[in-house]
Amino acid sequence: MSGPLLDVAAVGKRFGGFVALSDITLAVPRGERLGLIGPNGSGKSTLVNCICGTLRNDAGSVTFNGHRLDGLPAHRRTRLGLARSFQLPRPFHTMTLAENVQVPILYAARSRGHRGPGSGLRDGAEALLDMVGLGGKAHQRPADLTQIEMRKLELAKAMASDPQMLIADEVMAGLSHREVDEILAMLLKLNESGITFIMIEHIMRAVLAFSQRLVVLVAGRKIADGPPHEVIRDDDVVAAYLGR
Ligand code: ADP
Ligand code: MG
Repeated sequence: MSGPLLDVAAVGKRFGGFVALSDITLAVPRGERLGLIGPNGSGKSTLVNCICGTLRNDAGSVTFNGHRLDGLPAHRRTRLGLARSFQLPRPFHTMTLAENVQVPILYAARSRGHRGPGSGLRDGAEALLDMVGLGGKAHQRPADLTQIEMRKLELAKAMASDPQMLIADEVMAGLSHREVDEILAMLLKLNESGITFIMIEHIMRAVLAFSQRLVVLVAGRKIADGPPHEVIRDDDVVAAYLGR
């Protein structure tokens, strides 16, 4: 299909009298790696929530792969190929890692009207855990995982719906330099396999290494959009980050 994979047009969101997002317009072409940055509270997660259907935008429209998303619940958006990983991982603690990944595989199969992947379920979960380097831990539980392994489990779960776009909301926070590189390599490989990305990240080194384009939100408004190394030198962007 021609046109951008994701098209956000004049989206606005209020919480009571507080304007969290104002007139956000953003098109993401298929295959792009887009970085989304901004100070804390600038509306990044709210925008992701409006795109993914966790929140309803109260102005503008969101179109994904040619489908108007406005009014669709989150699971219908997942079915259309939109996935996100949450800032705070929420695994099922009583289940093994394999079972944790089988849940979203089943869910995606059901929501696409299939009776379920049947015997392919185990293989599917195994492949996803292998992909994130957790293949050897399929029978362990989330409590046994380190922080980076928890992030990898989140990525495997997000990939379980076979998405076209993955929105990664601060998946690297708290990780070491080497661990950040490991996750970056994983995301780049997924991008090479065709996944379009929006990466929200405070670790500037990671954002600059990953992003082909950078969008900056400040106080719910888009103040910059362009090549990363130009955007971070933009006067408005520098002022927003330095609080001037
Ligand atoms: P970011 O992800 O950029 O740090 P958020 O999108 O989480 O910022 O938040 C943007 C602003 O909207 C913040 O001021 C936050 O307090 C406010 N906000 C976010 N979610 C809600 C909500 N459900 N109810 C009220 N205010 C909210
Ligand atoms: Mg956030």
